[in-house]
Amino acid sequence: LGGSISRAIQQMSNATIIDEKVLNECLNEITRALLQADVQFKLVREMQTNIKKIVNLDDLAAGHNKRRIIQQAIFNELCKILDPGKPSFTPKKGKPSVIMFVGLQGSGKTTTCTKYAYYHQKKGWKPALVCADTFRAGAFDQLKQNATKAKIPFYGSYTESDPVRIAVEGVETFKKENCDLIIVDTSGRHKQEAALFEEMRQVSEATNPDLVIFVMDSSIGQAAFDQAQAFKQSVSVGAVIVTKMDGHAKGGGALSAVAATKSPVIFIGTGEHMDEFEVFDVKPFVSRLLGMGDWSGFMDKIHEVVPMDQQPELLQKLSEGNFTLRIMYEQFQNILKMGPIGQVFSMLPGFSSELMPKGREKESQAKIKRYMTMMDSMTNEVLCS
Ligand code: GDP
Ligand code: MG
Repeated sequence: LGGSISRAIQQMSNATIIDEKVLNECLNEITRALLQADVQFKLVREMQTNIKKIVNLDDLAAGHNKRRIIQQAIFNELCKILDPGKPSFTPKKGKPSVIMFVGLQGSGKTTTCTKYAYYHQKKGWKPALVCADTFRAGAFDQLKQNATKAKIPFYGSYTESDPVRIAVEGVETFKKENCDLIIVDTSGRHKQEAALFEEMRQVSEATNPDLVIFVMDSSIGQAAFDQAQAFKQSVSVGAVIVTKMDGHAKGGGALSAVAATKSPVIFIGTGEHMDEFEVFDVKPFVSRLLGMGDWSGFMDKIHEVVPMDQQPELLQKLSEGNFTLRIMYEQFQNILKMGPIGQVFSMLPGFSSELMPKGREKESQAKIKRYMTMMDSMTNEVLCS
C-alpha cells in the first residue's frame, strides 16, 4: 500500500510528464484518423508541432477534460488550415463574370459546372455553359444534356478541335446575351501532363476568367497536393470544389488543395444529381474528417423528426454518450422519416454514408429495417449496453 501511495504522489508531482503522455497518445490517435482521411502527411506533422506549442500542459494538469482540450485545439488547427485568409472572388449578379473550371479527367468538372450554374440560376442569376473540352469524345454531348435538363444556355461544337477558339467564342456569345455567369468547362487528362497544363494556360489567357475553380475528387488521397499545385502553377486557381463527398472518402485532400492553391473551398459535391451540391461549411467538414460526426447537424435533424415529448430524454442520453442500440432502434423508426438517409448517416460518428449510398434510398430503408429485425433478436442487455 505504502508503495502505491508514494507512486501516486510521485505521479502527481510528475503531472506534466503524464499529461504529455496523454497529449502524445491523443495526437497519435488523431494522426492516424487524419492520415486515413487523406490529409497530407506533411500537414499532419506541422499540425502536431503546432498543437504541442498551443496546448498548455499546465491547463491539462489542472484536471480539465484533457481529451476535450486537445481535440478542440486540433479542431481549431484544422479549421485554420482550411482558411487561406482571404475569400475567393465572388461574382456579382447582373455583371458578367467568367468562371473557368479545371481539374483532372473524372474529377467531376462537367457535373460540377452544371451544379454551379443551376445553384445560381435558382437564385435568379443568368448562367451559361461553354464546353471547351475538345479532348474527350462525348464531352460536348454530356454538357449539352446536363444544360438542357437544367434549362441553361450552352455553347460548344462537334467539329472544332481548338479549345481556345471555342472558349473565346462561347464567352463572347454569352457576354452579348447579358449572361452574368459564364462558366467554361475544360478538358482533363487521366494524368498530370504538360499538354493539359499548356492548354489550361492558353484557355485562361484567352478568356481572362474572373475566377478559376479547381475541381478535386475527394478520393484522390495523398495526390491532392501535387495535383492542386500543378494546376495552380499554370493558371491562377482562386477556389476549390471537392466532389464525391457522398462516397467513403472523408476529403482530407481538401486541406492540401487549400494549402497548395492558397484558395478556399467554396462548395462540395454530394452526389451525381444537379442539386447535390452544398456551400462549403468548415466545421461539419472538419468534424467528419476527425470522425466526430456532424453533431450540430444531427441535433437539428433530431429536433425536426423526434416527437417533442421524447426529445429531452434522447438529448440527455446523447450528451451523456449513452447512445445504446436500444435508443438507436427507437430512433431508426424516426430516422426512416428523416430522409436522405445517406446524409443522416454521414452525420453520425462512426458511420459513413457508404453504408447508405445515395440514390438507393429504398435499398437503404430495407437495410435499416433489416438492422431492426436483427436488433429484435437481441436481448435487452445487449441493446442497452
Ligand atoms: P470530368 O471528367 O471532370 O468532367 O468529370 P464528370 O463531371 O464527367 O464526372 C465524372 C463522374 O463522376 C461522373 O460519373 C459523375 O456523375 C460523377 N460525379 C461527379 N460529381 C459527383 C459527386 O459529387 N458525387 C458522385 N457520387 N459522383 C459524382
Ligand atoms: Mg468533363
